[in-house]
Amino acid sequence: MNHTSIPLAVHTTCPYCGVGCGVKATPNPGGTVAIAGDDSHSANRGRLCVKGSALDETVDLDGRLLHPQLREQGQLRRASWDEALNKVANGFRRIIDEHGPDAVALYVSGQLLTEDYYVANKLMKGYIGSANIDTNSRLCMSSSVAGHKRAFGEDIVPGCYDDFELADMVVLAGSNAAWCHPILFQRIARIKEARPDFKIVVIDPRRTATCEGADLHLAIKPGTDVWLFNGLLSFLSREGAVDAAFVDASTDGLRAALDTADACDPHTVAKACRIEVDKVLAFYRWFAATNKTVTAYSQGVNQSSSGTDKVNAIINCHLITGRIGKPGMGPFSLTGQPNAMGGREVGGLANMLAAHMDLDNAAHRAIVQGFWNSPRIADQPGLKAVDLFRDIEAGKVKAVWIVATNPLVSLPDANQVQRAMEQCELVVVSDIAAGTDTNAFADVLLPALGWGEKDGTVTNSERTISRQRAFLPAPGEARADWKVLCQVAQKMGYQGFDFDSPAAIFEEHARLSMAANTGSTARAFNLNGFEGMTAQQYDTLSPAQWPVNHPRLFGDGRFAHPGGKARFIATVPRAPVNAVDEDYPLSLNTGRVRDQWHTMTRTGKTARLAGHTAESFIDMHPQDALLAGVREGELARVSSKWGQMVARVQHGGGIARGGIFIPIHWNGQTASDARVGAVCNPVVDPISGEPEFKHTPVKVEPFGVSWHGFVLSRTALDLDSVAHWTRIRGESFTRFELAGRGAIADHATWARQLLGIADDNADWIDFEDRSGNMYRGVHLVDGRIEQCVFISPRPDLPSRAWLASLFGQGELSSLDRAGLLSGQALTPGVDAGPTVCSCFGVGRNTICAAIERDKLTTVAAVTACVKAGGNCGSCVPEIRQLLQNRGLALGA
Ligand code: SF4
Repeated sequence: MNHTSIPLAVHTTCPYCGVGCGVKATPNPGGTVAIAGDDSHSANRGRLCVKGSALDETVDLDGRLLHPQLREQGQLRRASWDEALNKVANGFRRIIDEHGPDAVALYVSGQLLTEDYYVANKLMKGYIGSANIDTNSRLCMSSSVAGHKRAFGEDIVPGCYDDFELADMVVLAGSNAAWCHPILFQRIARIKEARPDFKIVVIDPRRTATCEGADLHLAIKPGTDVWLFNGLLSFLSREGAVDAAFVDASTDGLRAALDTADACDPHTVAKACRIEVDKVLAFYRWFAATNKTVTAYSQGVNQSSSGTDKVNAIINCHLITGRIGKPGMGPFSLTGQPNAMGGREVGGLANMLAAHMDLDNAAHRAIVQGFWNSPRIADQPGLKAVDLFRDIEAGKVKAVWIVATNPLVSLPDANQVQRAMEQCELVVVSDIAAGTDTNAFADVLLPALGWGEKDGTVTNSERTISRQRAFLPAPGEARADWKVLCQVAQKMGYQGFDFDSPAAIFEEHARLSMAANTGSTARAFNLNGFEGMTAQQYDTLSPAQWPVNHPRLFGDGRFAHPGGKARFIATVPRAPVNAVDEDYPLSLNTGRVRDQWHTMTRTGKTARLAGHTAESFIDMHPQDALLAGVREGELARVSSKWGQMVARVQHGGGIARGGIFIPIHWNGQTASDARVGAVCNPVVDPISGEPEFKHTPVKVEPFGVSWHGFVLSRTALDLDSVAHWTRIRGESFTRFELAGRGAIADHATWARQLLGIADDNADWIDFEDRSGNMYRGVHLVDGRIEQCVFISPRPDLPSRAWLASLFGQGELSSLDRAGLLSGQALTPGVDAGPTVCSCFGVGRNTICAAIERDKLTTVAAVTACVKAGGNCGSCVPEIRQLLQNRGLALGA
């Protein structure tokens, strides 16, 4: 190849959320990678949020699984690929022969590329002959899938991102888009800036960052969305906001839906949702009057025991107004993961078949089996995620292959998942990370390629297929998941897996989509134009929506149900399955934080992302904290009937009485006991099987400790002697937040042991207040700070941001040394405070000082002054909050 023809930047796709932003990755000769937003990608037009911007900091090989490993007598040992693949293939074969195909299972992930997903489904459903393949997308958007199928006859997102800009009102239901879909949210925020009449309505029990700048926030009681949208349906009918021609020609079932919804008058809704009736009516009137309305919804809607009904209650309101598939209007499911949509295209859920074919339809099964020329085809739905791990524990499923997901952290009732893993005959795990909670129970560990190393396609929330391209060499012996799945299939004796590239798999996937689209089986999903694609065309594929040239679907009033009509679904409001009671009086809600992704195996590697939210937390109302006997800043234990965890109490100000919020990310590798999955109830939606992550009855109690402390250290620690710890990545050190029980008799000896300092002559400066039980110790090497430890009976300890800045210095000044002993920065302005803007590393103290000093009143002025908010914009809601706080402080 002509060297000059090699493009400098590789066009690829962000591996995190369902927005699916285009990324330009430029590998540098020194091994680093430069990351920039791809301005040619329609999803983000050159912008990236803070997680996407930090992708370059996640591609090192630290913590990577690089070789196959087998467990023998409890210990993992390195193995050859051949040995490991034989172990998987022979193990699966033996168990299938002895117990049948339903005794084995695959549990895969929305992190997989479509090609990996396609092969996994083909193997399981077409060759092994069981539908026991489910995915972590079950935990995320399976209620949307079920709702779409009930309403439209097919799992279709009818609109596109441009609709948000063409709309006059966007309703965000159960979505903290500012943190979870930041680039899309910023598109919405920019419209609001340009068009002040544009309305944003947020429906969320919490006052999240998404609510900043909203025209209306409906802080509904958790789980009451069906009341709210049933009330809206009834209101639209009564107020004459009905597109009668559309309803008549293109829908069925309105009368039955209204018979149910009419019980939800605004006053009943206000009472059920615990919000003011004026707010209910304001929302209803705006919705009725605004033709161009998009209702976007996410996990707050989906993760519920009535998630499917919530989705249909929303879609009902768009059907009655005929606002669907037209510019600037429609219901819009925001997918959580980068390729949840691709997984749906290939039938990644246990109750689906490839190419949007139905598993329970004999004609559909015949089409897929015929196309694959496979020996069999699964004819019964397989086990959905929660049921799968129950059946593993019950001994009915004896082998499971977990690919690119960490169920010991992410599933509800996660301790049950651990019990299932402990007694499963054969646990195979394919992952990029060596140390995960799930890997600890693997019999076979298979090293996978990560982002930047693997090649394939993903589909984002608006049906745009984009390439993820490799720009880094495969590390160690890591292999692509599709290749490993094919090799196991071949070792099991199956034909049909002789793919030599992801391009060949994608082409077959495209051909199947067309073969499935004939006559009575015609679907909206088709990859017309992609079939017959050459490897070179695949390599140069630009982002493209399916169906090609159809940014919107159903605009012609034709749907996928037999007869071509959409269906209203009568949705009966119901409370969450497990009610709060005297023993467990609070409702636990879970979700993401701004700068982390899933179980932190990638985002946890970057110090930049760790700075914003360093520890897990329990966000709760001050009065509930008072009743529970816990205080802000202190540790508390959260317990449910299923398990418990420990985190720090905070009053973020965004949560109503009766609820608490805990993030999902922390796990057994990053904290001693902060796995919220262990607490969550395993209740699922009866139709979709999606767990009720947004509501678990819990209690909060003090987590009694006698001291609090933290360590910043360039070397590892032995944490056996502490009651609670969190490990946090710093730039050139690791930070450990600690808490312990019992008196420390000799602080200096204890601290040196903790830090592993055996040399009596080590350069060590310390301060001890024996009666106050306070201690500060600093270990210096050649005048540079190597480690420091701070202990106090109270959690209000010195600024970690200031101490972290000392690790970036050479020899410490005498002022720094004096500051270390006094426990505070003595040089004005060096303590930036907790990170607000991760892109530029700007802390809260820096922003507040600039606001005060220069009398700043707008976010733009803050950005101009200290850069914060000037890149991805994810921190803009927090800057706005700091500006508002200043106003309050001044009595404005
Ligand atoms: S919004 Fe952020 S996390 Fe989501 S795809 Fe874009 S850059 Fe990635």
